[in-house]
Amino acid sequence: MTEPSGDNPLVIRKLEFLGGMAAVGGWRPEGTLPEIAFAGRSNVGKSSLLNRLVGRKKMARVSKTPGRTREINFFRVNDHFVLADLPGYGYAKVSKTQKAEWRPLLEGYIEKTPQLAGVVQLLDMRREPSEDDAAMLDLLAELGMPTIVVLTKSDKLSRKAVTERADSIARSLLLDPEQTIPFSAVTGEGRDDLAAAIMSAVSATSP
Ligand code: GDP
Repeated sequence: MTEPSGDNPLVIRKLEFLGGMAAVGGWRPEGTLPEIAFAGRSNVGKSSLLNRLVGRKKMARVSKTPGRTREINFFRVNDHFVLADLPGYGYAKVSKTQKAEWRPLLEGYIEKTPQLAGVVQLLDMRREPSEDDAAMLDLLAELGMPTIVVLTKSDKLSRKAVTERADSIARSLLLDPEQTIPFSAVTGEGRDDLAAAIMSAVSATSP
C-alpha cells in the first residue's frame, strides 16, 4: 500500500480471509485475537464501507460470493484483530419466516464470542431505523457490547441534513449524537473516525 500513514489510524498491511461460519457451533477461526463485527440490513452499504475502510476490493467480494452471503465471514487484519462481516439482515423481499433466520446466527455469534471487542452497527442515514435495527441495538445494549453506530451514505444528503438526521436518529435510539459517525463510501467521510473508534475498541480488549 502506498497510502500515507501520517493521520491514518488503521493502515492495512496484511488482510487475510480466514473463512466463513454458517451456523452456531459450526466452524469458526480460533479466537485468540480481538474481533470487531459489522452488522446492518442488506443494502445498507456494508460492503462499500468495508472496501473503503480497508482500501481493498477483495474483502467485500468474498462476502458477496453466492453461498457466503448468509455466513459470517472472517478476515484477519495486520495479525492484530479479526474483522467479522455479519450477514445483512431484513431483506425486504423475503418472507417473514426467512427474515427471522438471521437472528440465531447473529445472536449466537455475539453471545458466544468472548473476544468480541465491539460491533459496528450500520444504519442508512436517509431511512428510519427498522425493527431489526432496533432489535440488534437492544441486544447489543443488553449484552453491554461496545457499539459504534455508523450512519451510511452521508453523501446523499446536504451538510445540514446530515446533522439533522444524525440528531434525529440518535434521539430515536437514545444515543448521544457524538456516538454516531456519518460515513460515505463515495467521499470517504467518516473513514478515519471509524478506523480510530475500531482501534480504540480493539486496544481496550487486547491483552
Ligand atoms: P450491502 O448490501 O450492505 O453490502 O450494501 P452495498 O455496499 O452493496 O451497497 C448497496 C447500494 O448502496 C449499492 O448500490 C452501493 O453503490 C450504494 N452505496 C453504498 N454505500 C454508499 C455511499 O456511501 N454513498 C452512496 N451514494 N451510495 C452508496
